[in-house]
Amino acid sequence: MTIASGSKPAASVTARSAARLAKRVAEGEPALGRSRRVGRMLRTLAATHPDAHCELDFTTPLELAVATILSAQSTDKMVNSVTPALFRRYPTALDYAQADRAELEEMIHSTGFFRNKANSLIGMGQAVVEKHDGVLPHTLEELVALPGIGRKTANVILGNAFGIPGITVDTHFGRLVRRWGWTQEEDPVKVEHAIGALVPKRDWTMVSHYVIFHGRRVCHARKPACGACTLAADCPTYGAGPTDPVQAAALVKGPSRTHLLAMVGIPDDEAPPAAGGEDADAP
Ligand code: SF4
Repeated sequence: MTIASGSKPAASVTARSAARLAKRVAEGEPALGRSRRVGRMLRTLAATHPDAHCELDFTTPLELAVATILSAQSTDKMVNSVTPALFRRYPTALDYAQADRAELEEMIHSTGFFRNKANSLIGMGQAVVEKHDGVLPHTLEELVALPGIGRKTANVILGNAFGIPGITVDTHFGRLVRRWGWTQEEDPVKVEHAIGALVPKRDWTMVSHYVIFHGRRVCHARKPACGACTLAADCPTYGAGPTDPVQAAALVKGPSRTHLLAMVGIPDDEAPPAAGGEDADAP
């Protein structure tokens, strides 16, 4: 994807143009207009986050299933710090099925909710051995039937380990697509279906990464960096955070901060350092 020719830097968005868009979306944006706006935002997101990817480390579908189970109420960084030793100790589903509970709990303790997660890992290992000959299945129906794997986890596995398009509706995703007026649905399954109807199926996995990356780096829950946001011209919530470029630049986070600021015409050496406070991983 390439950046939309019609996209404009945040600096060119006026309070009046933002209010007009917000009013149009609130009054019920025509389907064609919304579809075109979503298409522009997708192209802009692709240019803004060319590094978007699954931030959990894994080499096999089973490893991704384990990492995704551990990521509940934790950060990807925390999960990535425990999985190398875990994957060495438990390379197969049978190893989880036969795991010593106390040892497993100790290894995953730092990710939180370790007793529930150990139950899920052991139960998942047993079910994969008993029902699937030790091989993780690759359909949504079979994955969600495994202990510890819900629809969100199943879509992460399908999209990133099996190359089967899936939309991952986590807290970032639901918050952002409602903020952008892509849907007003609150229920994650309804959000998944609504976005699935707006976005070509081949893009389902990547749109999940783009949206989640934007939520972690720019469009934070409490203080979005509106004045330094590439989506400003198409966002009905522009102005929810600081629109002053210098103040907004201080809110932009992550390893690609220099690129993100350059996209909106703010040289990194002129930008204030990233502000503390809101965790980049917070929903
Ligand atoms: S940072 Fe502001 S302008 Fe950008 S997507 Fe979020 S609410 Fe919209």
